[in-house]
Amino acid sequence: MKVLIADQINQKGIEELEEVAEVVARTDITPEELVSDIKDFDAIVVRSRTKVTREVIEAAPLLKIIARAGVGVDNVDVEAATEKGVMVVNAPESTSITVAEHTMGLVLSMSRKIAIADKSVKEGKWEKSRFMGMELNGKILGIVGMGRIGSQVVVRSKAFGMDIMVYDPYITPEAAAELGVEVVDLETLLKNADVITIHVPLTPETKYLISEPQFKIMKENAIIVNCARGGIIKEADLYDALKAGEVGGAALDVYETEPPKDNPLLELDNVVLTPHIAASTSEAQRDAAIIVAKEIKKVFQGESPKNVINMPVMDPESFQLIKPFFGLAEKLGKFLIQTAKGNITELNITYCGELAEVQKNDIITRMILQEVLNPILTEPINLVNAPGVAKNRGIIVIEGKRCDSKGFKDLISIKMNADGNEVSVEGVFDKEPKIVMINGYQVDVETEGTMVIVRYKDIPGIIGSIGTKLGEHSINIAKMQVGRQAPGGEAVMVLKVDQKVSKDVEDAIKSLDQVYDAVAVNL
Ligand code: NAD
Repeated sequence: MKVLIADQINQKGIEELEEVAEVVARTDITPEELVSDIKDFDAIVVRSRTKVTREVIEAAPLLKIIARAGVGVDNVDVEAATEKGVMVVNAPESTSITVAEHTMGLVLSMSRKIAIADKSVKEGKWEKSRFMGMELNGKILGIVGMGRIGSQVVVRSKAFGMDIMVYDPYITPEAAAELGVEVVDLETLLKNADVITIHVPLTPETKYLISEPQFKIMKENAIIVNCARGGIIKEADLYDALKAGEVGGAALDVYETEPPKDNPLLELDNVVLTPHIAASTSEAQRDAAIIVAKEIKKVFQGESPKNVINMPVMDPESFQLIKPFFGLAEKLGKFLIQTAKGNITELNITYCGELAEVQKNDIITRMILQEVLNPILTEPINLVNAPGVAKNRGIIVIEGKRCDSKGFKDLISIKMNADGNEVSVEGVFDKEPKIVMINGYQVDVETEGTMVIVRYKDIPGIIGSIGTKLGEHSINIAKMQVGRQAPGGEAVMVLKVDQKVSKDVEDAIKSLDQVYDAVAVNL
């Protein structure tokens, strides 16, 4: 077996690989040379410099695995690799400790005013009384997002004697108990924490998660740290809050625009800024090299690697059979994660009709899991890693088969449990994916665009009030369906609308008398 090392990686990784393969290091290889020379290699290792394009992948008949010694895989054409049956692996856990340590560095720099004091001493000043600090011992640290990095921050901040509150609606009680942290809602965390640190991915849900309303409820001397992604904190609102003395200080490693040119935050003394270096240590780079080298070794030895981020194509016959249900599974997964917020504990998936006869519908289950998990996690979730990630997060996945497909040729029925609340949906593929049941109510809904699902008490006039509320927010109703169990009882309305529906509009509908719940879903 031959491995091409196309970018500089740590020697330890190379030594691992040399145990099982001939290793060729060509860290100055040009894109043209790569296309012509890749044909002899079974594996390639890259960092960020080398682009593994479709052209490269198509010129590589022996290639089995592409390894990115780092977290993102932006420089690899994953789609082309998947089509060619080439695995792509990365090392998502390689930077967790490094980023957690940088977070602690920023917390200390703010709490003890280290950066600004350093500047003052270098200017020849001796301003001892100006730099009165805050001890961390006994203070409350609020961690937003307790994944790989957040968990490492827990361990380190405990050593400083801090009490910890976590906001992460997607972690299991077991994970929280294991780390001995208190799980609270975001508001409680923001109101109580002396130091707040962000460790969530940037998703539509976390974009501007911390903006004006959140700053307004923080303690006046609170410190906020962001080593996650720019855009989770709204910088304009952070600036206003710092200027108004609503928060004590901020430390940022990531920005809405990088580098942060003409950013007014650069002028403030109670702000510490680093240039997106939270993951930059030689140890993280060493670990990334070792992790991916081990993955390549596993593949060469016929074992399964653990960080595969794609799925090589399956045999064409089975693929053709289940292909139409991929789209349906994708839509049902997207629907579920948007309607059921909270810690997902169980997914119960039943395949009905002819689908119940298909041997390989575990692939459809993987697609559903992928769509449910992708919006809440940083690492890309795909058909290969979805079951493992779900298992690690304590989600029980039950697959069943039944023949009664309620008159449809094939039907997928899913029940999802999140924080004790069950959401259920059923879908069919009839020329296109369709939803035919929501929470026990029969519907007939296309899986495109935006819909609003409202649960309410079936009383005269209520449908009009909901329509009026949407109208007040300039939202046009394209189609409406109502499902109810009995007159005067609980009912569900599905409104297909032409515009996107914000949280404010959801709240406005929820504020109506006899409306129990309203949620917008984008499919
Ligand atoms: P992870 O996927 O392991 O953890 C993310 C956690 O956030 C999960 O536990 C998830 O349940 C939680 N979460 C998702 N949506 C949430 C929401 N709306 N509210 C609260 N919690 C939510 O990710 P990780 O590896 O720990 O990375 C965390 C962040 O750090 C990411 O944004 C990542 O891009 C960033 N990062 C930055 C650097 C850097 O150089 N500054 C380096 C590595 C990672």
